[in-house]
Amino acid sequence: DKGEYAEFIDREYIHDNLKSIESYVHKGDMGKVCVFAGSTGFTGAGFISTRACSRTGTGLTTLICDENIQAIMSEKLDEEMTCNINEWEKVSSLLEKSDAIAFGPGVGITEHKQKLLDFLIDKYDKPKVIDADGLKMIDFNWLHKKSNTIFTPHIGEFSQMVNLSVEEIESDRMAISKNFAKEHDVVLVLKGKNTIVTDGDRVMVNTTGNRGMANGGMGDALTGIILSLCGQGYDNFTAACIGVYLHGLCGDVVFEKNNTVNATKLIKIIPNIMKILY
Ligand code: AMP
Ligand code: MG
Repeated sequence: DKGEYAEFIDREYIHDNLKSIESYVHKGDMGKVCVFAGSTGFTGAGFISTRACSRTGTGLTTLICDENIQAIMSEKLDEEMTCNINEWEKVSSLLEKSDAIAFGPGVGITEHKQKLLDFLIDKYDKPKVIDADGLKMIDFNWLHKKSNTIFTPHIGEFSQMVNLSVEEIESDRMAISKNFAKEHDVVLVLKGKNTIVTDGDRVMVNTTGNRGMANGGMGDALTGIILSLCGQGYDNFTAACIGVYLHGLCGDVVFEKNNTVNATKLIKIIPNIMKILY
């Protein structure tokens, strides 16, 4: 990267930024959040993002999904709640009470989802994590400042967002990410080896993660982890930094043991890894 100054997200950063949890907390203190994820053929994305979120310590996690997958999702998600995306009164009451919202993993690209996402960004100024299909449905020319969002693209998604080729981005990853975050007043997480987190002023580079993580579901897990940290009261930038480190460290521990990583195994050990970090 050309002449950009960045700091590393390492063990010391986590030590300085992870807040300890008081013994008298109740679930309201640990965050209430909503996840818009999953659709027919992509139930795994709904499951992984939602479960990753609850495993990161969220007080109450609700998956809001299409009616035709709600039954299967509730079967899989016995520690979380589900809500039918078409039952608008329930959805809007959940959103009102939420501390943070995620939108995107496997959600599908439709006109309805696009309108809903526009509405969420317009109406709710609480923190929002936008990933995957969500990123494809935003017109960044129209995104208003103060959207209070975290975007979590991999390089292919980011290439579409900024209208540059993957090669062009790779040749100047930090500056392009930083400028994008600054221009739109958002937190950008550019995923991949040495994930970048930037808010347009600060640029941080992650030190955890490995090649075993280059497979499906991994990004969905990250969305859930960052959402959880937002719900627990971390500001967007800190939530993204702690989230990518924790996600990568879980991946490293799974890789060390199995020489491969899958999202189910990764999210299972989130609580154990958090215990070590606290
Ligand atoms: P996604 O492409 O949305 O599924 O996200 C993939 C996740 O796995 C991101 O958090 C990446 O940072 C991580 N990941 C994928 N490949 C690697 C790699 N080679 N080294 C480190 N992390 C990776
Ligand atoms: Mg993804």
